[in-house]
Amino acid sequence: MNSDSDLFFDHTEMQKITETYPTPFHIYDEKGIRQNARSLFNAFRWSKGFNNYFAVKACPNPYIVKILKEEGCGADCSALPELIVAEKVGLPGYKIMFTSNDTPDIEFKKAFDLDAIINLDDITHIPFLERSAGIPELICFRYNPGPLRKTMKGNVMGNPQDAKYGMTREQLFDAYAIMKKKGSTRFGLHTMIVSNELKSDSFVETASMLFDLVSEISDRLRINLEFVNLGGGIGIPYKPEQKAIDIDALGSDIRAVYEEKIEGKGLPPLKIFMENGRMMTGPFGYLITRAIHEKHIYKEYIGVDASMANLMRPGMYGAYHHITVLGKEKAKHDHKYDIIGSLCENNDKFAIDRMLPKIKAGDLIAIHNAGAHGHAMGFNYNGKLRSAELLKKEDGSVALIRRAETNKDYFATMDFPGSQYKNMQ
Ligand SMILES: *Cc1c(COP(=O)(O)O)cnc(C)c1O
Repeated sequence: MNSDSDLFFDHTEMQKITETYPTPFHIYDEKGIRQNARSLFNAFRWSKGFNNYFAVKACPNPYIVKILKEEGCGADCSALPELIVAEKVGLPGYKIMFTSNDTPDIEFKKAFDLDAIINLDDITHIPFLERSAGIPELICFRYNPGPLRKTMKGNVMGNPQDAKYGMTREQLFDAYAIMKKKGSTRFGLHTMIVSNELKSDSFVETASMLFDLVSEISDRLRINLEFVNLGGGIGIPYKPEQKAIDIDALGSDIRAVYEEKIEGKGLPPLKIFMENGRMMTGPFGYLITRAIHEKHIYKEYIGVDASMANLMRPGMYGAYHHITVLGKEKAKHDHKYDIIGSLCENNDKFAIDRMLPKIKAGDLIAIHNAGAHGHAMGFNYNGKLRSAELLKKEDGSVALIRRAETNKDYFATMDFPGSQYKNMQ
């Protein structure tokens, strides 16, 4: 959400919440998450068996994954703990996609044991998978079109040719043939070549490219693919001037290509999967922090009680996150500030030269679009502790879905004498 009027809470409500839960914390909107998931499924209701495997890395909190499960989503995992999240929320194997890369053998083993859909990143992973787990009945491959496909300038994934993921076209054909010989009987095809993309053409092109491949694979190898997975990457409008993708239009544009390239060629029905993470939770989470210092040197700074450890995107990518000073939504935005955290890193800034209302120590600040790759990217550098995660439920009540880390947690993995202070908070 990229405007002050998008908040799912107001100043008074947030003041009350902070009486129980001290800042900083992330807060998510159950209602928003559910409605958004429903509109995605609705846009693809023409496609039998459509699913969005939620990319767990965006917001790996089981309470959130469970809400999405209730809306029909599967989970897209790429690490062992993410597979455990999917398992704990009770997702069946066919609703778990394991799209990993550079994968250790215990992770293949876990995915295999869960009966998850294994999406192999590379042709050399075939013998590796066979050794570490076995040959699954259903196998999917990740395709990297390389120079055959250019992405829009500025996309964070860069051009496919420079991306570490997936296999080449020739390898892909070999991989299906090998797995068929080894006994797999069911097949899928995956690609993911964009991230945070706001142009829907890009997804239609991807669908079109995969549909063509499906028909070629069917011709050359006599293999009927069960599904294509278009990957994630649907962007969200972080900046006020950006617009969200029209999901309904995307659904019907892909339908037109499906009718031409799959139905039109008499191919058997093909399921369409996606694995969006960001668009599923990003707009429905805020990082709530409090101004604790005002500093006037060569520039004007507002120091807040959150840091890059709570939301890394601005510091890491220079990403824009909209900021609302709660209770001052209507005030003149006539002060230019850098909003800073306490990390000893000069890029620990949530905003640079941002025009905002006059901020005083004690003001509550909401940082928008922190529901994906926010808490999830948290870290402990500089002795920073991860903050809590709250959920505003559909009935309006607020629940703690992950407590904040304590000093005790920070020391929990060391047995240095004296670090187990008994009464450490
Ligand atoms: C990150 C990732 C996703 C989700 O991407 P979003 O931008 O969050 O939609 C999906 N699939 C794979 C393989 C990923 O690495």
